[in-house]
Amino acid sequence: MLVTTKDMLVRAQEGRYAVGAFNVENLEFAMAVVAAAEAKRSPVIMQTTPGTVKYASLDYFAALCRVAAESASVPVAIHLDHGDGFDRCIQAMHAGYTSVMIDGSHVPFEDNIALTASVTKVARPLGIPVEAELGKVGGKEDDGPAVEGESPYTDPDEAEEFVARTGCSSLAIGVGTAHGVYAGTPHIEQRVLKAIRSRLDIPLVLHGTSGVPDDQVAEAIANGICKVNYATELRQEFMRGFMGYMGGNPDAFDPKKPAGAGMAAIQAIVESHMDNLGSTGKA
Ligand SMILES: [Zn+2]
Repeated sequence: MLVTTKDMLVRAQEGRYAVGAFNVENLEFAMAVVAAAEAKRSPVIMQTTPGTVKYASLDYFAALCRVAAESASVPVAIHLDHGDGFDRCIQAMHAGYTSVMIDGSHVPFEDNIALTASVTKVARPLGIPVEAELGKVGGKEDDGPAVEGESPYTDPDEAEEFVARTGCSSLAIGVGTAHGVYAGTPHIEQRVLKAIRSRLDIPLVLHGTSGVPDDQVAEAIANGICKVNYATELRQEFMRGFMGYMGGNPDAFDPKKPAGAGMAAIQAIVESHMDNLGSTGKA
């Protein structure tokens, strides 16, 4: 069933588990994510970045995800990940997304507040939750520039003021994770997370989670994370399954065969994450 992220994240916060938000790139990703959610009886968020949306269009992805969501017996939300401006967020709501993120983390504090508040002002009467970001998630975000050499941590004082002045529904925070593929072992700064949690009562969001060890993610959930984003791992698993099939069947010409292998690989990793996030059985 198609829902917004509001109730599912509030329930996760109350139940001290997290809902996985998985970036979908095509038909097979959407089908695999919903199949995993059904198998695990888990709520789930399907999300797309502007970079993915540009590949086809918001309408294309909204339609694809809506069919997947409406065919599911578990709650499914369609979320715009890293919305890159007021216009994109409004376009996503109009296209049928049931949740949006406005990412003002690249602009100064006051500008981030003004940008985020402009989106929440429109989204609130429509009943659409708005995720915002404060602080820096490192690495290469979507098709934007890599973030290097800046303090990655969200300041708890700023977070409290930011949420009060923007009315955002949830907040992505910088606690040491990065987008893309990690060079070394990632480290979540749990101390910073706990300090932010003590100041805020809205759901907190972890970005850049692909490659972060499950035990660190579980600890972050115990410390207040309610939504966990995975993108890179799904891409890796799809291509591993796809190329693995082609390696064994180099003359194959039916795209459904390698794509099916990629889909099975995505479903397996998503199911494994649902178990670790604690969302299994919570639908
Ligand atoms: Zn992100």
